Amino acid sequence: MNTLAIIGIGPRGLFALEKLLQNLSVFNKKLNIIGFEPIDNIGAGDVWMTNQDASNWANISERALQDLKGRPEIIYNKDVIQPFPAYSDWANTYQPDSNPDIFPLRSKIGKYLNERYNSLEIQNLYSITFKLIQEKVLAVKPVKNKLQVFTDNENYYDVDDVLITIGHQPTKLSTQMKSWKKHASMHENLQVYENSYPLSQFEHLDNETDIVIGIRGFGLSMVDVMRGLTTSTFGRFKITNSETFKTVFIDNPDKKILLVPFSLDGKPLAPKPLNNIIDQLFKPTAKDLISLKTQIESVARTNSEASNINFLIEPVANISTKIFSNSNLNTKSHALHKNQLQELILKWFENEDIDHKLIANKKTYSTYALIKKYIDMALYKDKISLDYCLGQVWRHCQPTLYQSLSHSKLKKDLLKKIIDLDERIKRYSYGPPIESMQQMVALIESKVLNLDYINDPKIELSDKGWNLINSKNNSIKTTLMIDSVLDAPKLLKVDSALIKQLLNDDLIQPIHSELGIETDSNGIVQSACVTYNSKISLLGRLSKGSIIGADSILECFGKQVEDWAKNYIKNLT
Ligand SMILES: Cc1cc2nc3c(=O)[nH]c(=O)nc-3n(C[C@H](O)[C@H](O)[C@H](O)COP(=O)(O)OP(=O)(O)OC[C@H]3O[C@@H](n4cnc5c(N)ncnc54)[C@H](O)[C@@H]3O)c2cc1C
Repeated sequence: MNTLAIIGIGPRGLFALEKLLQNLSVFNKKLNIIGFEPIDNIGAGDVWMTNQDASNWANISERALQDLKGRPEIIYNKDVIQPFPAYSDWANTYQPDSNPDIFPLRSKIGKYLNERYNSLEIQNLYSITFKLIQEKVLAVKPVKNKLQVFTDNENYYDVDDVLITIGHQPTKLSTQMKSWKKHASMHENLQVYENSYPLSQFEHLDNETDIVIGIRGFGLSMVDVMRGLTTSTFGRFKITNSETFKTVFIDNPDKKILLVPFSLDGKPLAPKPLNNIIDQLFKPTAKDLISLKTQIESVARTNSEASNINFLIEPVANISTKIFSNSNLNTKSHALHKNQLQELILKWFENEDIDHKLIANKKTYSTYALIKKYIDMALYKDKISLDYCLGQVWRHCQPTLYQSLSHSKLKKDLLKKIIDLDERIKRYSYGPPIESMQQMVALIESKVLNLDYINDPKIELSDKGWNLINSKNNSIKTTLMIDSVLDAPKLLKVDSALIKQLLNDDLIQPIHSELGIETDSNGIVQSACVTYNSKISLLGRLSKGSIIGADSILECFGKQVEDWAKNYIKNLT
């Protein structure tokens, strides 16, 4: 009987396990499985840990989580594996469309995932041998037509095949971070943190009475860090209007904290629309999404010669033109004909900094004013700008785009362009809850968050810390720096033992120098070294390039994993 190793049992590893069991039952086959997962929250992984700080919020709403389906009953030989409810049934979160969307804590979703894993009771089944090894895998090596899995406890395990579902991996430090770490190591009073998480690493700062902290990055992790740092002993948030989440920051008069975030472009996140009624205004029709799929696949699945991304942005621009022109959507007024509007949209896809009165960007507004504008648009209290509309339409198109573009025949450079565009639009499509951005506004208004240095400041090192200098030549000094930037999954930059070993031994290869691992449509790694019978598969973020989207919890419970499991069991001898 074959033995399969699943390395990493976070959400994707959990779903892979469930789908394996289902397919074993359908195809009436047998398998030994060894699961490797070093942390305790099996099924949740470190992103969704059940005991993490309450400042870590999900950016996916309870409403969107209605798409996280449950597990049906699985009957496998003598075993009956009980069904497990869909997330919304488990959390009992159905609500009227006019109510504001609720965004759960990440720990709550973790509880669901961990309970879902436990309910498999997989170690008690008769028909399958499952062993859970709570160790970190450091290497996978081919030995005589099999594979050996080596762990950090100096153990090794013989297996036939391997599935890698290890999610986000650390990447090599940037030159900037390296120089800051070196600088801090030479000065006792200076501190640098390479990661935002866990937030508990900042607990000692609660004892400070007056501190200035620089935060590298202006994305979702920065928001968690901002919330975590300011709400311990330095103050608290109070919502003053439950309809708009308008918030004030009530500071502790005995203590002072100042956060100074900065990024390469200073562009802020745009919150998601307040509720389902508003969100529906940005939603393409089912017919438009089917047509989008057909148009994209007609190129992506067949045309290796496509030389630009027009085949993708033109149909999305077409849908967006219809949505922005819909009289039900309260947009900024304009006198553009449909084809002029579509042309403007296409230009925005190429370059979001173009000047136009329909587009809200940093040419017209300060970062602070832009944040407030986006909040008012999300609340539907201000006219919708074209860029905000495009970001929301793109979010609704994402599942179709991700599916239609995965394992395409497109040139690698073109794939890179598409991924870059998707990443760029994420500040809208992966936007935070309105409440998070109201908290940011409250901190700015209380002078706890300073945006004066947000736009790519010059940073000088001195014995006293880091000196941030802005374009007006103003400067501010910090003694502590936090890196909140989540690096892109560039395979060649990944700095984990397992991935480096697989790369060095030619067992994996990048699909493009700037992207992830090359896999086929069933998740099987395309290796430079093809002499082994054993198969290594990889699902998730590290295969970006082969697939386009992997970064949402819903993608973990999607078709990519289903296809892998079905194909794996079908071909099992
Ligand atoms: C900080 C952060 C916040 C996020 N917030 C959201 C959000 O709000 N909404 C959303 O939809 N998505 C969010 N995501 C995206 C998130 O990655 C996915 O939702 C999901 O967690 C991916 O699941 P996964 O199983 O592929 O990887 P992971 O969740 O990363 O799980 C991988 C598992 O593999 C284990 N592992 C790693 N290396 C090894 C090894 N060498 N040996 C053995 N085991 C190993 C880990 O311990 C972990 O349990 C966030 C991601 C991050 C990093």
